[in-house]
Order: sequence, then structure tokens, then C-alpha cells
Amino acid sequence: MATLDRAECERRDRNDPLRELRHEFLLPDGVIYLDGNSLGARPRGAAERAREVIEDEWGTGLIRSWNTAGWFELPVRLGEKISGLIGGGAGTTVVTDSTSINLFKAASAALRIQAVDAPDRRVILTQRENFPSDIYMLQGLAEQLGAGYEVRLVDDAEVTAGYPNTRIDDVALVVLTHVNYRTGRLFDLESTTAAVHAAGARVIWDLCHSAGALEIDLAGAGADMAVGCTYKFLNGGPGSPAFIWVAEALQDRFTQPLSGWWSHENPFEMSPEYTPAAGSRRYLTGTQGIVSMSVAEVGLDIFGRVDMAAVRAKSLQLSDAFIELVEARLSDHPIEIVTPREHEHRGSQVSIAHPEGFAVMSALIERGIIGDYREPSVLRFGLTPLYLGFAEVWDTVEALRDILDNHLWDAPQHKVRGAVT
Ligand SMILES: *Cc1c(COP(=O)(O)O)cnc(C)c1O
Repeated sequence: MATLDRAECERRDRNDPLRELRHEFLLPDGVIYLDGNSLGARPRGAAERAREVIEDEWGTGLIRSWNTAGWFELPVRLGEKISGLIGGGAGTTVVTDSTSINLFKAASAALRIQAVDAPDRRVILTQRENFPSDIYMLQGLAEQLGAGYEVRLVDDAEVTAGYPNTRIDDVALVVLTHVNYRTGRLFDLESTTAAVHAAGARVIWDLCHSAGALEIDLAGAGADMAVGCTYKFLNGGPGSPAFIWVAEALQDRFTQPLSGWWSHENPFEMSPEYTPAAGSRRYLTGTQGIVSMSVAEVGLDIFGRVDMAAVRAKSLQLSDAFIELVEARLSDHPIEIVTPREHEHRGSQVSIAHPEGFAVMSALIERGIIGDYREPSVLRFGLTPLYLGFAEVWDTVEALRDILDNHLWDAPQHKVRGAVT
């Protein structure tokens, strides 16, 4: 393997089959953006699409646009596009609400199914290291349900090893995030799903940190349900709506806990009786933010032209380069690479721990190198193959080296925390 230096990184950029996609995104000059796993970059067409929706569809079309501009169909139309990225199959996915809310709906529906299939099981099992909102939503649901429902937390290692030290025979539902938001660890979708099923439980996957980052085949893995957001790797814009997927075989058994009119078979019948829609509209609740949803489609349409195998290949090359450079060039510093080295266990980010992680990230951001920080002491670098290059990885590690060698993080302005980290 060629020694990795800046010239080699530039050579890789020139030979990168995805390099043209960089022009689909607008980033400020001088910024290296390593936080696309938290908020994706702005697609070039997003502002024009927002203008069109606000001025033409809303301004001129007014209420007619529910029909004439296809607003009513947006959740399903976008859902179909996401389905292609997650191996969902036709008619199984909608874009709506937030990930937290969709998880509540999915978990509630899955427990209703299990109340029939495995009535003695009342435990929801999830990762202690899961994104906290997922844990909170499940705890809230268990509390609402009462009747012995409870949440059990386990370490990621327990999941990978097939629950050797965890009681599993009372578990109804397992909720797992495909890529751990902090460590970047990736679970194998197929074998992990199979292990949950073998234990007699159902599984909901949270794809927030994997949708748009790697190839996913939910139906092929035999998964039950899934949720995820569109504002991270899918570049949908801040707060853009999330998605929910339900396996075809469970679609008719999905009962809505939030049975708003958008999930009705015929919302404009205005009937006082609730009849759930037959297809994926059943997972909706109420009226959606049409501007945000329309802008999210611009991000999704970029993926329509992208080969996910090439995205995954480049993502791994970028993270390999990042890890190699951190090890070679920062070895004098107390740094620990938290993200697994094995490709099959790695998502699309590299997390490194440093005792002064927060201040170090603050010093990087001051230079326009934008990653983020997660407790405790983890610097997160999201590697987004659509708009990041190898030379930028080199420059990031060199900036880190300068900041660490010269203690540049040790300044008062790098100790101040904002409301969002
Ligand atoms: C980002 C993320 C969320 C965010 O949920 P919201 O409802 O959009 O705030 C939830 N779960 C995981 C695993 C995430 O990574």
C-alpha cells in the first residue's frame, strides 16, 4: 500500500468515482464538514425547491396544491424513495413525523402483535448505549402501557454475543440502532435479526446512522420494523421528517397508537368511525410540514443517482485513511480510537477519545473543521462519501496534530459549551 501523504490523498480524490457528487452540495468556502452524520450538508437544489413550494405551490396554488402539487402524496412518494435505499420493498415505507414519534408508533404496534403471538412476554430490550431518545420513548411507552411492561438495557457486546448474560425468554421486542451514534459500531442486520427471532422476540431497527451511509436490506434480513431520520446522511435539512418501515407480512397487523386522520382509509370521508388505511398510509398520523418534506426530497433524489455499494466502499476507504493517519501522526497523544477496526463492524464515522475532547473539537471548529463532541470525551468525525475527499481527511488530521502538539485547545474560549454540542 502506498504511504499515505497529502499527494497520495489528492491522487485518491482524482480517481474517486463519486467525486462529481461534491458539486451537488453547497458548503461554505474553507469548511471541512465532518458532521454529515448529525446534520447533512445542503443540497444545491434545496433553496430553489423551497422557493418553488413557498411562492408557487403555496403562494399561487394555495389549497389546490394538496392535489395539484401532490402534497397529499408526499409521505408515500418519499417513502418509496427511501424504501429503495433500505431494501424495504414497494408500499412499505412512509416519510412522516420524527424518529422518536415513529419509534413510539412502531414499538406500540409491535407489542400489540406480540400480545397475541407471545402474550407472556412484556419486556422491551434495548441498548444501554442507544441514542437516549430511543430509550426514553420506550420507557414512556412501557409506563403508558403499565401491566408489567418494562424496558431492559443491555450492552452492545451482549447483543453481538447473542445475549449470553441477559434474560431473554420474557422479551417481546428488541429495539436496536444499526450504527451506534457515539462509537460508530455497526451491527450485522441479518444475523442480529435472526438471533432476536430465534429468541422469540421481534426487532425494530433504528437506521438513523446507517440510512444513506451503507447498503441495507431490511426485507432480506427478515426484519420486522424500522425507523430512521432523513436529516443525517440523507441530507434532508434541519428537522426534516423521519421514516417508518413495516415488513409486508406485518402491515395488516399494525395498529396505530396515534390514529390520526392521515392514517384513515378515507380521511375526507370525515367519518366519526376510524378505519385504518390498508397500505403504508396506515403509519401516518396528521398533517405534515410540506415545505420541509419537499426540501427533503431534493436530498433523496441525489441518492436516486448513486450506487450505494460505491458509497459504502468510499466510506470505508475514508475511515481507513482517517484511522491510519491518526495512528501514524498522533501517536504521541493520549488518543483512543473508539470505532471498530473491522469493516463489518464499522459505520460511516470515526470516533476518537481524548481526555480534553470537548476543547479539542472546539479548537478544530474554530478553524472551520466541523465535527462534534459526545460525552464522555468522544470526538466524532462523520465521513460522508458524497461530499468529503481524502485530502480533507489529511488536512483534518494535520490540524488535530497542530492543536494537540501545541496545546491550542487549552484556551478559555474552548471550555465554553453551547446548548447544543
Ligand atoms: C438522530 C437520532 C434520533 C433523533 O430523533 P428525533 O426524533 O429526530 O429527534 C433518534 N434516534 C437515533 C438513534 C438517532 O441517531
